[in-house]
Amino acid sequence: MSLLAGVDVGGTKIQVVVTSPDLEVIGQSRGPTPAAGGPPAVVDALCALLDEARRQAGADGLAAIGVGAPGTIEKATGVVARSPNLAGWMDPFPLGPELERRTGARVGVDNDVHAGMLGELRLGAARGLRDVLGVWFGTGVGGAVVLDGALRSGPHGASGEIGHVCVRVGGRRCGCGRRGCLEAYAGRASMERRARRLMAEGRRTDLFRIMEHRGLDHLTSGVFARALAAGDDLAQDLIDEAVAAAGSGIASVVNVLDVEAVVIGGGLGTRLGEPFVARVAAAMQPHLFVTGAARVVPAALGDLAGALGGAAAAADLVTPVRRPARRRASGTG
Ligand SMILES: [Zn+2]
Repeated sequence: MSLLAGVDVGGTKIQVVVTSPDLEVIGQSRGPTPAAGGPPAVVDALCALLDEARRQAGADGLAAIGVGAPGTIEKATGVVARSPNLAGWMDPFPLGPELERRTGARVGVDNDVHAGMLGELRLGAARGLRDVLGVWFGTGVGGAVVLDGALRSGPHGASGEIGHVCVRVGGRRCGCGRRGCLEAYAGRASMERRARRLMAEGRRTDLFRIMEHRGLDHLTSGVFARALAAGDDLAQDLIDEAVAAAGSGIASVVNVLDVEAVVIGGGLGTRLGEPFVARVAAAMQPHLFVTGAARVVPAALGDLAGALGGAAAAADLVTPVRRPARRRASGTG
């Protein structure tokens, strides 16, 4: 049996699944993303986790591996051109070819959010839908666009970069260097920078106390969730800002694409769950051209979306996907 693997390389952890050809999970493993050593260390960690999941699945080898990685990916070559959220990953690195050499399997590499969206499209919240926008709230804010049932890549592989839609002209500085991007208000790293600045200016918050109590060195989605549950004012203000920015940014993209649904995922989106999704949906309404245009739903696959999407991409490598032909409009022939 030709087994598949899906890998989700995140800023803090690597998740691996090994699946049957029909994407049933039969092995999985998870470990921290190396904080030092750059791409070679990530490849070593990744190979060890692949071995672990493969052994768990009782498999001798893997037919294909689909990898989702953060940053700019040259999908055709498997090169990760730039990955600012991975430590020491400054220069282009041929992740796909290197993994093929190490594992003997065929390897496809895509943007982590695109992989997550593919997972949701084949197995999760977007199953059966043709036109969908995915918005992933995590360290940054990523996105993915599905039109006519196909995940869009774009000529620069940058389709769906909703985090860098401008929600406030001349607004807060974004990690990308521009101003007023959605990510500058709704990305976890930007929210942490804002929290540190406000605390230095004298605002009280339990965010960093919770972080230290958990032995962490940055504000994870779990820390935000805990602070919100405890009624922390600063955490609440940051989430309010994130929701407002997300509402206008997402609605603007919905106005352009006219999708059926918006899927909200990512670490922060998943952790804050339904209440966050409902708030984002409400914040979109004043900005929508068509009232109530798109359903807004939470991602269904949680932490496994990216890895399962990787496995789905691996399945496509082995058996290229055949999408049903579009029905011709009547009266043309
Ligand atoms: Zn930006």
